[in-house]
Amino acid sequence: MISVLRLNHRKRDKRITTHCALTARAFGAKEMTFTGENDPNIIESVERVVEKWGGNFKIKHAENWKKEIKNKKTKVHLTFYGERLKDKIKELKGKDIQVIIGGEKVPREIYDKADYNISIGSQPHSEVAALAIFLYEYSNYKIPEKFKNWKIKITPSEKSKKIKTRQ
Ligand code: SAM
Repeated sequence: MISVLRLNHRKRDKRITTHCALTARAFGAKEMTFTGENDPNIIESVERVVEKWGGNFKIKHAENWKKEIKNKKTKVHLTFYGERLKDKIKELKGKDIQVIIGGEKVPREIYDKADYNISIGSQPHSEVAALAIFLYEYSNYKIPEKFKNWKIKITPSEKSKKIKTRQ
């Protein structure tokens, strides 16, 4: 099971942290914890998505990242300073992983506590992009298609919007 730890949320990053959670859910992670400023709006909006679109993704806020480090899991910190994903992905596949993504500043200790510091290219981009690519490669390029207990679902279509709903 993949868990995500998103560090150092600031209220002005509301959309980015929400997008981290939605990306985590859509690409196969089962939970995300965010640290930094608490923001119940993020939790509510992600829970509304889960309620409508299904699955059992969980999101929570935590005060202290140190208590959220999952030592039983393989801890993969995504950072542009890290080793190349393509050099490590074979070792990581199939492992029970905690993915750690940062915000503006990442404490030095995270680099030491992580089992792997992994880069998705060595250029700066975004925690959302890094997470998406990591999850996509980890899952052998398969994007989950089934989310249990959905109330709304899209049928892929060439030109129209095909939406199924149920109670
Ligand atoms: N100094 C950061 C770093 O170490 O990658 C860049 C800060 S960036 C605004 C916020 C987060 O995006 C980072 O903490 C990291 O998780 C992720 N990120 C950005 N570029 C990345 C890259 N090329 N590879 C992996 N993760 C990246």
